[in-house]
Amino acid sequence: LLAQATPVLGDGGASLGAVLVFIDVTPYRMLDQLRQEFVAKVSHELRSPLSTILLQLTLLLGEDGAAPPQGHRHLLVRARERTQGLISFVRDLLDLSRLENGGGAAAQPVEVSLEKVLASVSEALGDQARSRGMELRLELPAEPLPPLRADPVGLESVFTNLAANAINYSSDGGQVTLKAWSEGDSLKVAVSDQGFGIEPEKLGLIFDKFYRVKNEKTRYVTGTGLGLPIVKNVVENLGGAVAVDSELGKGSTFTVTLPVTPT
Ligand code: ADP
Repeated sequence: LLAQATPVLGDGGASLGAVLVFIDVTPYRMLDQLRQEFVAKVSHELRSPLSTILLQLTLLLGEDGAAPPQGHRHLLVRARERTQGLISFVRDLLDLSRLENGGGAAAQPVEVSLEKVLASVSEALGDQARSRGMELRLELPAEPLPPLRADPVGLESVFTNLAANAINYSSDGGQVTLKAWSEGDSLKVAVSDQGFGIEPEKLGLIFDKFYRVKNEKTRYVTGTGLGLPIVKNVVENLGGAVAVDSELGKGSTFTVTLPVTPT
């Protein structure tokens, strides 16, 4: 509690009383604590891959800075992967902090065709799906969908994140479907997979920053727990919502609802 006292003086300077103001600072303390936890988590996420890179580069250079020993290409490849992971982590983190501040420097919304966004996402992830023996299906209605007013980059990141998760949290050979349709004043997109599924008690946590489900199946999937928070923020900034329906061992469906604003 923060207390502040101001004396109230009469004409002749006589004391008439005092005004006491009490401010409950609990929300500020909580915010500060959250910020500290956030910084601690970020530093941890950055430190571990950076240490790996440092170690690998040190080995490559040899103890006395001599030429790198032969046959150590795999170390370089691993260092590059870790660096790429780190770069996308930092990018996600910055995206998220911008989104949480109400969109910040996000691009001006323009008229976007959902069909085009989904086609571009499915093309971008096609190779990744094929390399895992998976089929990435795009189901669009025969009639063209009404355009949306949105930042196309943000919208693409929503469906890239959802489709990449659908691929990553599935066993090889499954099927991932991106299906779009129009319903009343809204556009809907369902991203479904036949993958690991999510325990019912974890469904309420997966949109939290840094949250990752830890089990035997997910332990081999790398990630930072920032994808779904980004999805939720972008969708909600557009006045929409994202819902998840999942069954352990069967698969998951993430459904995005976006309002169509009359032009
Ligand atoms: P990341 O994938 O980097 O861990 P996300 O925020 O995208 O972060 O997802 C949070 C967690 O939700 C994931 O770690 C995973 O456990 C779970 N998850 C997300 N999408 C799926 C999916 N399609 N199937 C199963 N689990 C999923």
